[in-house]
Amino acid sequence: MSIKLRTSLWFTLMVLLLSVMILVFVLVINGASITGDPTERLVKVVTGNVDDVEFDNGKFDWDDLDLYKNGVSCIIYNQSGQFLKGAKLAGIDLSPFPLSDGLVRRTVFHGHNYLMYDVYVDMDISGIWIRGLVKETWDSGLMDTIIILTCILLPCILVLAFGGGWLISWGAFRPMNKILAAADSISGGGDLSQRINLKRGPKEMRRLGRSFDAMFARLEKSFEAERQFTSDASHELRTPVTVILAQCDRAIRKDKTPEDFINSINIIQEQARGISELVQSLLGITRLQHGTDRYELKKGNLSQFCLVCAAEFMPENRRGIELKYDIEDNLETNFNPALMQRLIINLLQNGYKYGKEGGYIILSLKKEGRKLRLSVKDNGIGIAPENMDKIWQRFWQADPARNESGSSGLGLSMVKEIVEFHGGTIEVESEPDKGSEFIIRL
Ligand code: ADP
Repeated sequence: MSIKLRTSLWFTLMVLLLSVMILVFVLVINGASITGDPTERLVKVVTGNVDDVEFDNGKFDWDDLDLYKNGVSCIIYNQSGQFLKGAKLAGIDLSPFPLSDGLVRRTVFHGHNYLMYDVYVDMDISGIWIRGLVKETWDSGLMDTIIILTCILLPCILVLAFGGGWLISWGAFRPMNKILAAADSISGGGDLSQRINLKRGPKEMRRLGRSFDAMFARLEKSFEAERQFTSDASHELRTPVTVILAQCDRAIRKDKTPEDFINSINIIQEQARGISELVQSLLGITRLQHGTDRYELKKGNLSQFCLVCAAEFMPENRRGIELKYDIEDNLETNFNPALMQRLIINLLQNGYKYGKEGGYIILSLKKEGRKLRLSVKDNGIGIAPENMDKIWQRFWQADPARNESGSSGLGLSMVKEIVEFHGGTIEVESEPDKGSEFIIRL
């Protein structure tokens, strides 16, 4: 049974139960008061009214009297028998019946037997008459009306309850179909770019839709990251793996000297190191680009941090290049230490790699308006104007042949990703044979 049917049936059953309870209650209470002994009811209602009459400042107050109760109608007359107030008894002429205190009398109106009871309320100066009238036989008319009304109204109410319940649950679950359709199409066709985009519908469903959309977005990023990583890795690993296999083939040939073996192993080791570094950089870059890893930003002293990073990073082959500093003291900003260290080291590494023998690198950090300007400048080989845009691409190298192992053309892509992660910008100013300056604004 669907949830829609279940809730609608439950509502309907509850309404039915409630209606039956109310009906029984009304019938029992009303039936008891209407079907009880008429003389007793007549005397009780009239006496009750007599007790309720008040006489204040020469005036009667009969606002609290019950002019119709338990089938008894009451009429008030003044001392001399003139009508003052009372229940309308259409077509019944009461004038032939003189008022008579404390007597229950039987009379006939329009072929129905009535009981009549008069009481005189004496207030010394003045007085009033209260007359009560009740049908001697039980009047089933009211009960019949209640039962007939119930028979007509109850089915209508039940249909309304069922229909309303059905409509509400149908409306509430309609967006669910959209969510299910999107989930089905994603799991079936694998199109992760689909979104549910639920704009209308109950609040809970809209929230569910948003959560699904966020999940799909994250899934899409992860899959995209995986796809890119796999394609890049398989492309870039082909060469070193071929070299390793070739060296292995050479090494296992019978006529090899120990020197040949060592040579082959050295080459294999170098290639394996290159592979390891490539995989590390590629993973880091992919995760950063697709936001699949979470990196925390913390406020810290970037001036201090730059000095420490540069001091810790001293490549073996410095080619006589001198590292100079131009760092303003105690400049603070939000940054992720691990990523920032990678950024600085990558730029310094390039400075040493592409710098002039015996030249210099200047690492500078300054305040520029509300931003911080971090730059790494060298007086090296520079970059040709037509290559200025290409340097940020993955695996791009101006001259792959001149690069040592571990140089994979990923450094600047990584730097760019890190800068963008920090909400900053990066640009390069360079002239061939004069040098380059990489400028980051945070
Ligand atoms: P890698 O240094 O591993 O080749 P990068 O992404 O760091 O990869 O750099 C890409 C290319 O940009 C380099 O191969 C080089 O041609 C050029 N390049 C980067 N930094 C400099 C620099 N400071 N001076 C001149 N050329 C540079």
